[in-house]
Amino acid sequence: MEGKAYIEQFIRDVPDFPKPGIIFKDITPLLQDARGLKIAVDLMGAPFEGGGVDVVLGIESRGYLFAAPLAYKLGAGLVLVRKPGKLPYRKRSATYDLEYGTDTIEIHEDAIGPGQKVLLADDLIATGGTASAALELVEKAGGSVVAFTFLVELAFLPGREKLAPHPVHSVLRFE
Ligand code: AMP
Repeated sequence: MEGKAYIEQFIRDVPDFPKPGIIFKDITPLLQDARGLKIAVDLMGAPFEGGGVDVVLGIESRGYLFAAPLAYKLGAGLVLVRKPGKLPYRKRSATYDLEYGTDTIEIHEDAIGPGQKVLLADDLIATGGTASAALELVEKAGGSVVAFTFLVELAFLPGREKLAPHPVHSVLRFE
């Protein structure tokens, strides 16, 4: 079975989680499968092989599961964006809107150097709110955004448009 079709069978739809009306894309069955995990990381990183990425930025927490092996694969460093209160050193934060209320993410102020080429990674893009807050943190630090890479894109939501004009790579698109 071809790579994308192979991994798609391991994305489990969980209706009404974490709240009514949301269909949660559960990636844990994919993580459990040796071939599936490898294909997922390989396909997320494929367009970026051959250099050009200094650091991969992972978004807490499922983003880390892909950002770390991607950084290893691409020969890049790893930078963490975390939920508030988790990072120990001096940090910058960005706040973004959710359906109800707001959320905040943080990064160490020295995590990205000026001109560093950054690939931002997360498991899934929905509205793009989380990824665009991470983008704001990278740009404030003077980093240069290479692209975003996601395992899953909910293409019926305008996440990709929100990140324009930055390139967005996704492995599995759900319409
Ligand atoms: P958004 O900021 O709306 O693009 O949401 C993206 C973040 O929320 C990612 O870190 C995802 O892990 C998580 N997320 C949003 N919607 C879903 C969903 N339907 N299934 C799984 N994770 C989701």
